[in-house]
Amino acid sequence: KRTPLIAGNWKMNLDHLQAVALVQKLHWALKDAKHEDGSVEVAVFPPFTDLRSVQTLLDADKIPFTLGAQDLSTHDEGAYTGEISGAFLKKLAVSQVIIGHSERREYHAEGDDVVAAKVQAALKHGLVPVICVGETSEDLEKHGASAVPVAQLEKALADVPADADIVVAYEPVWAIGSGQAATPEQAQEVCAKLREVIGAKLGAEASERTRVLYGGSVKSANIASYMREPDVDGALVGGASIKVDEFAAIIRFEK
Ligand code: 13P
Repeated sequence: KRTPLIAGNWKMNLDHLQAVALVQKLHWALKDAKHEDGSVEVAVFPPFTDLRSVQTLLDADKIPFTLGAQDLSTHDEGAYTGEISGAFLKKLAVSQVIIGHSERREYHAEGDDVVAAKVQAALKHGLVPVICVGETSEDLEKHGASAVPVAQLEKALADVPADADIVVAYEPVWAIGSGQAATPEQAQEVCAKLREVIGAKLGAEASERTRVLYGGSVKSANIASYMREPDVDGALVGGASIKVDEFAAIIRFEK
């Protein structure tokens, strides 16, 4: 049985003071929620500059959120101005890292080769890569929903060992920030195909164990409909993850 994962990708929002305030409020809003007993995992992915402050708060107040970063370098250290090493993230008690988000693919020209290299960098430093895949509306028209995400995942998993701890997130680009979420049936169909890719590349045990998330205009009003699907194990939430009440309501989903 896979533990549901509700992950908040803050993107480039909230400075470190705002970050601390949000995490504190969220923690209060979640008193007695099911994440407290470990039946749902909650993860937050703040900007790099917030990580230290958020980590200190999680530690001090024993807040059971997983800490994640939004990106990492393919390199360990050296003359790479502006880059952040997975080793540095690990030292900050970061445990997950988003890789291949469509905004990085689009605005930073990250192709499948860079994504695969970042997955390797994450694994090397003991970080769980949250591998994002998804089709644009053009891809959807030309190739249907699953062809592009399946191809992206196959490349990302090329050199990943069978026992690696990974998370996969299906985020159709047309659903991100658009208010036009995929239907639960669409999400299920592609997530099931992605699980098959995990099985083909990493084996049956990995495909059973690995969580596949849906992302794209997830909110409290639609989360339950995704969570009822057998191959959707959680959500990668953008805009709604920086609104305390909305994100708390998503975490408190009832199937
Ligand atoms: P929205 O939830 O704002 O659509 O963003 C989804 C996303 O990109 C999460 O990584």
